[in-house]
Amino acid sequence: MDPSPQEMVSSARAVIFDSDGVLVEEGAPLPGAADLINHLLETSKIVVVLSNNSTKHPETMKSNYHEKGLMVSNIVNSGMLAVEFCKREGISKVLVVGEQGLIDLLAEHGIEWTDEEPELVLVGMDRTLTYSKLASATRAIRGGCRFVGTNPDTSFPTSRGLEPGAGSMIAALIASTDVEPEIILGKPELFGYEFVLQSYQLKPADCVMIGDRYETDILGAIRADIPAIVVRTGIASTRESPGKWGEYPSVPVIDSLAELIG
Ligand SMILES: [Mg+2]
Repeated sequence: MDPSPQEMVSSARAVIFDSDGVLVEEGAPLPGAADLINHLLETSKIVVVLSNNSTKHPETMKSNYHEKGLMVSNIVNSGMLAVEFCKREGISKVLVVGEQGLIDLLAEHGIEWTDEEPELVLVGMDRTLTYSKLASATRAIRGGCRFVGTNPDTSFPTSRGLEPGAGSMIAALIASTDVEPEIILGKPELFGYEFVLQSYQLKPADCVMIGDRYETDILGAIRADIPAIVVRTGIASTRESPGKWGEYPSVPVIDSLAELIG
């Protein structure tokens, strides 16, 4: 018999959470999130947030969590994955279509924003997007510059409804250049999962991924051989179509994180 979601968590060494729709919604903690994190930390589990968000600096995310009583300190967002990608590829000059949190994070790691002969066009969610930014990025990519996306999420949930996410900005540049990005770093790509496994010296079977979005959190976990649980908050509760996750009955579904506390 398959283990219950509670058994999956209690036997894991590390629990990897998605952020929006799992731990928080509209910035407020979801029911059970703080208690579950405290319980995991008390039982010496490694607790990691793997977020596709690139707009906030990970330290900002951490202090936001702590202010809300979510005592998680291991944050991996897609901005950090971009830093890792640039380090591995020896890239130090990047034309960023993205927000200040991403530009600051890159700068801290010696990666300079430039529109003069960049080695890479990096595209994340940008709520200050302008025609001029898209034009610079288009010219660079058309001139042969490498092109990478932070995360594929086409939409971003807000209290006003779904608004454009990084995937929409990437789509605009695909349309203007006829070039596909060589990689989109966030979930469901393996890059972030492998970065978490390496960073915390874990094997896939040591972990459980808890997410609300099939196409990113759960699909990536399946690709990485990490056991996964869907929590029916966030996108999993509100979307009209459940997408493909219904085709994977082996992934257990829970209604709230509170169900995972023994
Ligand atoms: Mg989510």
